[in-house]
Amino acid sequence: MAKKEKKTDAGELKEKLFMKRVNTGFEMSEGDIAKADKFCEGYKVFLDAGKTEREACAEAVRLAEAAGFVPFDKSAKYKPGDRVYRVNRGKAIILAVIGKKTPDHGVNLAAAHIDSPRLDLKQNPLYENEGLAYFKTHYYGGIKKYQWPVTPLALHGVIYKADGERVDVKLGEDESDPVLVVTDILPHLADEQYKRPASKLIKGEELNILIGSRPFRDDKASEAVKLGIMCILNEKYGITESDFISAELECVPAFKAKDVGFDRSMVGAYGQDDRVCAYTALQAILAVKGAPDRTAVTVLTDKEEIGSEGNTGLRSAYMKYFLYDLGEMYGVDGRTVLSNSKCLSADVNAAFDPTFSEPFEKLNASYAGRGVVVTKYTGSRGKSGTNDSSAEYVSEIRRMLDKDGVIWQTGELGKVDFGGGGTVAMYVANLDIDTIDIGVPVLSMHAPFEITAKNDIYMAFRAFKSFFAHKG
Ligand code: MN
Ligand code: MN
Repeated sequence: MAKKEKKTDAGELKEKLFMKRVNTGFEMSEGDIAKADKFCEGYKVFLDAGKTEREACAEAVRLAEAAGFVPFDKSAKYKPGDRVYRVNRGKAIILAVIGKKTPDHGVNLAAAHIDSPRLDLKQNPLYENEGLAYFKTHYYGGIKKYQWPVTPLALHGVIYKADGERVDVKLGEDESDPVLVVTDILPHLADEQYKRPASKLIKGEELNILIGSRPFRDDKASEAVKLGIMCILNEKYGITESDFISAELECVPAFKAKDVGFDRSMVGAYGQDDRVCAYTALQAILAVKGAPDRTAVTVLTDKEEIGSEGNTGLRSAYMKYFLYDLGEMYGVDGRTVLSNSKCLSADVNAAFDPTFSEPFEKLNASYAGRGVVVTKYTGSRGKSGTNDSSAEYVSEIRRMLDKDGVIWQTGELGKVDFGGGGTVAMYVANLDIDTIDIGVPVLSMHAPFEITAKNDIYMAFRAFKSFFAHKG
């Protein structure tokens, strides 16, 4: 008997003293799992509608307006519960629900990004080579270049013609549309290619997109295929070759978001980094009822994948200016708004991959299906380039999540010496705002087809909802 008692003691002590690692599959009620599945139906629609930052921004505007948000007017007077948004150059958006407390108490800010790795067309992209027409590309963000050939691609973006008229392009998404593709060499002739290091298996200048092969029939001279393509583009979009100079054209995978697995427990799609956090942070602010305690703000930003540079990235002042404008409305100086604000930097983390376990440190990795990931620090090799949230703020967010029954886990991006990455967290924190990373774990991050678990997506949504109600 004594032996059995001792075992029970150990069990109780473990229960009391050890950290509990949970799986959403056991912890969530069947009702909540059904809610997660339903939530992800809307998420998949959002992914298909917004494959570029411009499209995701437009989709966010559409959803926001349907939920009663109006364009922010800095000369207006807003009352608690009012819902406003400001678009930055069509590529980023800030949404806010005015709180009961004036902005000198700060705001609760969720910041996600809506740009994703892809193949951008160069400014002079069109050429013909041996009877085939191509676009030259310059890839955007961190990609494994070998993943992009032989996958059907769609072309999205805008072209400004010589007279300044804007033409929107979206080709390859409709079932009846053609798609574009980067070719690869057949295995029979790949001996030399196989000798290259994996990072150069496909080189940047080999990411050329095949766009046509039929010559313009009335011309036996050179570049007849290029001419044939240019005629089609002129007919379809009214453009000439020089209009590519004032265009932003992005090649993205042509396929749609899908359920993954026999149990349909996961979502597979292009661009889930970081539209999975963008959508959940967006839905959370749309779901705010009445007036929150502190003003709730969701920022969906551009350019995170290339270092948050440029005037639509979070290293620019656009978010700061919005918060300054908000403060001015109440006679509060901008720096007071910033210093008293709190931020959830809403971005994905790498989910532990059992097939490629080597780069992960199991004790501190995040896992698909175990809830939303709280990431105290990102960076690489000695925490270089990270926000490294304070223990005080981690404590606050931890208590907030626990109080609201959000299932969460901690995460670190890989082993210490294996590389790493960053998010917008450090740029927000540089504004003197308490900031921590939180988001959804992703398998195959930055691949054309990324994988997330539906339960985690739902828990991210719950985390942002909890944050907007957080009085802290
Ligand atoms: Mn990201
Ligand atoms: Mn990324």
